[in-house]
Amino acid sequence: MCMAERKKEEKKKQDDAGFDLALRPTTWGEYVGQEKAKTNLRLIIDAAKKRNESCDHLLFYGQAGLGKTTLAYLIGKEMGVQVKSTTGPALEKAGDVAAILSNIEPHEILFIDEAHRINKLVEEILYPALESRKLHFIVGKGPSARTFSLDLPPFTVIAATTKVNLLSNPLRSRFGATIKLEYYKNEDIEKIIRQSARTMNTDITKEAVYILAKASRFTPRTANRLLKRARDYAEVYHNGSIDEYVVNKTLALLEVDPLGLEHTDRELLEVIIKKFNGGPVGVKALGAALSEEAGTIEDVYEPFLMNLGFLERTSAGRIATKRAYEHLGIPLDKQKLI
Ligand code: ADP
Repeated sequence: MCMAERKKEEKKKQDDAGFDLALRPTTWGEYVGQEKAKTNLRLIIDAAKKRNESCDHLLFYGQAGLGKTTLAYLIGKEMGVQVKSTTGPALEKAGDVAAILSNIEPHEILFIDEAHRINKLVEEILYPALESRKLHFIVGKGPSARTFSLDLPPFTVIAATTKVNLLSNPLRSRFGATIKLEYYKNEDIEKIIRQSARTMNTDITKEAVYILAKASRFTPRTANRLLKRARDYAEVYHNGSIDEYVVNKTLALLEVDPLGLEHTDRELLEVIIKKFNGGPVGVKALGAALSEEAGTIEDVYEPFLMNLGFLERTSAGRIATKRAYEHLGIPLDKQKLI
């Protein structure tokens, strides 16, 4: 990526972050779907409130944009406490955690995003803090080094990750509950689009909501992003309201197909089908053919394609399914009926 492209990408990220914030649900009622997660959390919150205690430490996992951060802030609101926010990579040294925790107020929530990127040194200071509300730190070096211990007030850590398998077992075991966020049903994405359009004061037709929802990769953040692009299109080229014509034009412009596949998703399936005869193919070979990191393929593209039923992971490698051939309009090799 060249400098100009990187700057453009960074600007887009900032715009999206601002937009995320503007459309973030501020009440439980606005938080659509994820019934299982919400029921579990309701119980944990109500029990904590009844006992006048802090909420248990919680671990949220699931794909990016499914609502982990939003939930953390909703819990803060429900418990009537502040949420302090940081990320795994921002906590570089033990001292970074010590600085945050030694300033934490009773019952406050510390939200740690990208928790799989917390390093070993930081993990070690977190263990006693999570387990027995103790902060251990060492002052000085060598033979004169001394260990001090500080009692912390009751507090809650909510950690979020897209890669729960990368969290060490000892860290994972310190959380009172682990909550998985699932991909959304299309009707829930439709609700979110209608809700966001209302917040943005933009008219949108029923057909337009339906088309946008189908292309939203089962993910609220993507739905809101597509909605925002459609609003831009409607304001510049149309009468300001979003209809079928506007969304179809917007999706075509963004090269997003009716099921939400983008260029790289299609390329990935085409490589499996054309280069590897439909699979099975190992993720490393796939990465090399696409010039993508194996981790990105596993974390970003595959979950979505598997949810659509276009890709299967087998012990021998990745396989493109019959539905993938049909979607791409590639004739099926008779031996490859999956
Ligand atoms: P994550 O932390 O999992 O990456 P976020 O919590 O930042 O995801 O959610 C991204 C955006 O998607 C939010 O700003 C919000 O506008 C929207 N969103 C997420 N979950 C929901 C939901 N259940 N209902 C309505 N909007 C949601």
